[in-house]
Amino acid sequence: MDQLIPILRQYWGYESFRPLQSEAMACVMADRDSIVVLPTGGGKSLCFQVPAVAKPGFAVVVSPLISLMKDQVDALTQCGVPAVVVNSSLPPQEQAAAIAKVKSNGCKLLYVAPERLNTPAFITLLRGLPISFFAIDEAHCISSWGHDFRPDYRQLSILRKKFPDTAIHAYTATATKRVRDDIAKELSLSDPAVHVGAFDRPNLIYRVEKRTRKWEQILAVIERHPNESGIIYCISRRNVDDLCDSLCEAGFRARPYHAGLDDPTRKANQEAFIREDVDIIVATVAFGMGIDKSNVRYVIHAAVPKSIEHYQQESGRAGRDGLASECVLLWGVADFVLWRKIMESLEPDAQRIARAKLSEVSGFCSSTTCRHRALVNYFGQEFNSESCGACDICLGDAEPVADALTVAQKILSCVVRIGEPRSPAYTARVLTGSGDQHIAANGHDKLTTYGILSGEQRSDVRAWIEQLTDQRCLEPGGDPKSLVITEKGWRVIRGAESPRLVRPRQAARPAAAAVAVAADPHEHALFEELRALRKAIANEREVPAFVVFSDATLLDMARRRPTTAATFRKVSGVGDTKSHEFAARFLPVIAGFCRQRDLPTDLEIAARAPRAVIRRTDFDPDMSKAKRAAMRLFREGKPLDQVAREIGRAHSTTAQYLEDFITAEGIISPRPWVDNDTFRRVREAVSVCGMERLKPIFDHLEEKVEYGIIRIAVACLRNATPQTATHTNDRPSV
Ligand code: ADP
Ligand code: ZN
Repeated sequence: MDQLIPILRQYWGYESFRPLQSEAMACVMADRDSIVVLPTGGGKSLCFQVPAVAKPGFAVVVSPLISLMKDQVDALTQCGVPAVVVNSSLPPQEQAAAIAKVKSNGCKLLYVAPERLNTPAFITLLRGLPISFFAIDEAHCISSWGHDFRPDYRQLSILRKKFPDTAIHAYTATATKRVRDDIAKELSLSDPAVHVGAFDRPNLIYRVEKRTRKWEQILAVIERHPNESGIIYCISRRNVDDLCDSLCEAGFRARPYHAGLDDPTRKANQEAFIREDVDIIVATVAFGMGIDKSNVRYVIHAAVPKSIEHYQQESGRAGRDGLASECVLLWGVADFVLWRKIMESLEPDAQRIARAKLSEVSGFCSSTTCRHRALVNYFGQEFNSESCGACDICLGDAEPVADALTVAQKILSCVVRIGEPRSPAYTARVLTGSGDQHIAANGHDKLTTYGILSGEQRSDVRAWIEQLTDQRCLEPGGDPKSLVITEKGWRVIRGAESPRLVRPRQAARPAAAAVAVAADPHEHALFEELRALRKAIANEREVPAFVVFSDATLLDMARRRPTTAATFRKVSGVGDTKSHEFAARFLPVIAGFCRQRDLPTDLEIAARAPRAVIRRTDFDPDMSKAKRAAMRLFREGKPLDQVAREIGRAHSTTAQYLEDFITAEGIISPRPWVDNDTFRRVREAVSVCGMERLKPIFDHLEEKVEYGIIRIAVACLRNATPQTATHTNDRPSV
């Protein structure tokens, strides 16, 4: 195991392992069969790639999709790891060349499609060669319980028979216990070690919105991510085409993807997305399996997915690189009707399961539970923190109803008064006092609860009924579309328990600007320049951009701003080969950028764990108007004096706002508020006297730098050293 970290550093340029990676690698090193379940972006590939480099011989990797294999081999090659792919799409001479390379011991990883492994000639060929182990990627494809069963995978059962002494390791992002058992059985694994990672994806920000003005809601998301990659899912082909046309007309670079397009067009559209020639793919759910693109910054569901599993998988295509990314689900009642119609063609049993899964989605949409918690619990894991700080519920997008108990009692009493099971829509009409004929004919306009919520919007009342159903105060009656009250509902009526109700927000909030890959404006601008350079290099080499460097690597580069080969090599994701090949291209761009803006370079900062960078300052409901305005101006990079003038507050108050801003947004370079030379001096002083107290720094600087400036510089320095920043959020004392 000791040899693995140096390999990780040399080839991939990463400092340490992610959770479970070392356990997974230990199994490979010890030749113990294993099953590894890690969420998308968890770093499964490295679990077999690093040991493959360490072990003698070469590893055989089975992967279901040709495009994916090619990307992985390209990515390995860029890192300096020799790897080849053999599949039927290659011309014969290329296949022959690849096989020759394998035979001459010239590669560490051989990627093959499952159907290839099933041919006797290929098996015979492999039998004479030093195979270190088998890695089965996307292993859930072997199980008919998985959502993506592939008959070709079934035949992998011959591996154990033909290679009884070679260990087999299976990797997947989605596996229930049943699927895991199936994998073990089908592959004849012997006493496999099973590693299941945490399902939560902390860097994803989930938002669920009722679809009221679809176009505006979609635009709001896209506009938060200018020139970034995103996927928009629709249910029907027609919706895909319509939405894609509208986006193109509005000037966005978008392409459609669905089963109605011919093969070459679909392929070209997918390729354009991967190569970043277009930013947006509008797709039916058919899109995504072959996508390894790590920097998808948002996934929008323009209509609901058909199950929570599908939601997890489709939304999970965002942010594989661990950077903040957004998943927005827009739902409408019509989606459920459409899915049920589509499901009518299924066999009765399958239809029953499909409908049950769909109603779980409905529960998720109207739920008032933290989205991260709901998803993690769905997959059978605990969620340990009270608030995730990265979903519509926890961020307070939806406004809690102040007198939820009273409102709930009115709704539940109405259900009781109506007496017979009725649909939520009908109940909402009675509650809001609709003049509907049916209601009068049924005599329900005479009920005491008729019109008792007439001051409310009917769509809100509908949403509350759904929220009460989600909280088990109501449940479906004999007819699944009708509602009856539950035991818990009675407790609410008696006032013994209070549910939580929220008012769905109609308008997009200013908080919508809340996702950022980089909080610091300089960081962001440099990041954009580096992305453009990466794109140019990717085009020259005819590989996808993320194969050159991931977004996470570019961001780390934008934060550290290296101008020498030595500091370049310290960037996370820059290994020996990439450092050698790309330093000459990146360093001048970084140096030029910093010179132009007079920014300090070659910063030593700690690596940042994947997380959602959320502009918390946008969310604080207690923040005064003046402070909010100040935050906006700081974000635009306005100097302190000017901000103080514009918001009409004292210099000292404004300085305090600035300190809060810097701390909240994790800013590490204090330009334009502190000049470089002063910042350097404060940094030196801090290295001598620490940053617990300001007075020693002030003294060390011979009282020549005022406290306000020291505070700001220190706030930035704290952000660059997470250990201290996480211990305390208090201001340093004087
Ligand atoms: P998965 O296959 O589980 O979806 P990947 O293997 O594609 O995940 O990894 C996701 C991203 O995380 C890739 O950009 C990868 O290079 C990066 N990564 C993996 N392991 C590490 C690590 N130990 N440190 C830093 N980045 C990592
Ligand atoms: Zn949450």
